[in-house]
Amino acid sequence: MSDLSAIHLTKQRNQQPKVGISACLVGNKVRYDGGDKYHQLINKELSPWLDLQVICPEVEAGLGIPRPPIHLVEDQGGTRALGIEHKDLDVTDRLETAAQQLTKSQPQDLCAYIVKSRSPSCGAGSTPSYDLTNKQVGTGDGLFVRALKTAHPNIVVIEESSLSDTQRCKEFLEQCYLLSEL
Ligand code: SF4
Repeated sequence: MSDLSAIHLTKQRNQQPKVGISACLVGNKVRYDGGDKYHQLINKELSPWLDLQVICPEVEAGLGIPRPPIHLVEDQGGTRALGIEHKDLDVTDRLETAAQQLTKSQPQDLCAYIVKSRSPSCGAGSTPSYDLTNKQVGTGDGLFVRALKTAHPNIVVIEESSLSDTQRCKEFLEQCYLLSEL
């Protein structure tokens, strides 16, 4: 990405666009199984030019590492985050409380968020939801992204699956630099 390098080399670290990112995507071992989802292109092509604000909403909610896997379930009372293996595990309130606190404490000049697809917390449009019989009934946003979009309706939210080649990374980077200068 040499052309972008030339443009952005003049930017000091504290002048780079602030972009939130799901912690597992930068290689932090914060997933429910103690693993990560390191994303090569994000870390090689984007990280040098962005001031990344790394966060794991589930760790912030105190769910621990490792932790029982959860998924979203549509119930009469709304969306719940329930254990996949432990059906009586309900962490909805903990996740929603942490998500609201996190979105309040985000830097005001945050221009975008890169999130992990399909996650019950971080997914943006791709997170499956189920009924009580485990039948998938839809796809949508994870609980953290719902809170994020409510608190910051104008923020750009993109899943890592949309940054699948250098051209898409370049376009996203240009969008971030434009937004940070508004
Ligand atoms: S997807 Fe989100 S909640 Fe899940 S491990 Fe990654 S940062 Fe944490």
